[in-house]
Amino acid sequence: MNSNPFDLAGRTALVTGASSGIGARLASVLAGAGARVVLGARRKAELEALAAGIVARGGAARAVALDVTDEASVIAAYDEAERVFGPVDTIVANAGIAVEGRATDLPVAEFDRLMAVNLRGVFLTVREGAKRLIANGSKEKENGRIVIISSITAKKAFRSSAVYAASKAGASMLGKSLALDWARLGVNVNMILPGYIATDLTSRLFTAPAGKELLESFPRRRLARESDLDGALLFLCSDAARRVTGAEIVIDDGQSL
Ligand code: NAP
Repeated sequence: MNSNPFDLAGRTALVTGASSGIGARLASVLAGAGARVVLGARRKAELEALAAGIVARGGAARAVALDVTDEASVIAAYDEAERVFGPVDTIVANAGIAVEGRATDLPVAEFDRLMAVNLRGVFLTVREGAKRLIANGSKEKENGRIVIISSITAKKAFRSSAVYAASKAGASMLGKSLALDWARLGVNVNMILPGYIATDLTSRLFTAPAGKELLESFPRRRLARESDLDGALLFLCSDAARRVTGAEIVIDDGQSL
């Protein structure tokens, strides 16, 4: 018997938005726990470099070009994952973007661009993954693990974040509703709600005066780190989370208090 409940050996994971930031970190963590990982995003060179690093450390990784807003691209990514590693049983819907500025100044095209990635992209990613899981017998195996990377903005309003927050609240509720729909089909859907973390997505925000003010308002006056999400991810993808579905785990160093 394996005494490590967070061992992911034998699992095949697809991580979207793995070319930088949180997604790159999470993909490496899954690989470190023994999962075969498929790294998806639009910047293939970054994915190839990450995959090479994982393989050099003894893991199994494959880079696939993926645009989560494009259904054909999502289907092709799963096809390639299956061809290389077999069926995907662990899906991390992480790809996301932010738009900056006041809603009154925001071109509607920016609204559409953000929703296409943060909401439509999550829907396409998890729906295709669940379809294949169900077709491959997840009902009997109870092996489906889907983790959506949402945000504390899904729960708490922050200035100049209306559209981003709406997309994340939508992604969280999408995940909860699908957790209910797929509860008897062996597919668990859970959300991680990170606080503000220093990545490409937030780098400009926290160098501007409003960002510095926001940082000062946090209880610990600091950003969270990508590695703060490791434990929650491993838990939610593992056998230990067999009876965890529809949950939202907030990891924000108290920022949303
Ligand atoms: P990041 O470094 O900018 O990474 C975003 C990732 O999404 C990149 O790998 C990017 O890859 C990918 N992506 C964007 N559009 C895509 C598309 N159409 N198709 C496929 N991939 C796409 O930002 P991050 O901070 O790590 O963000 C990752 C996730 O965490 C996002 O969902 C974000 O909302 C969430 N989050 C971040 C924070 C934070 O403070 N940083 C807090 C809470 C939640 P390509 O450009 O190569 O496609």
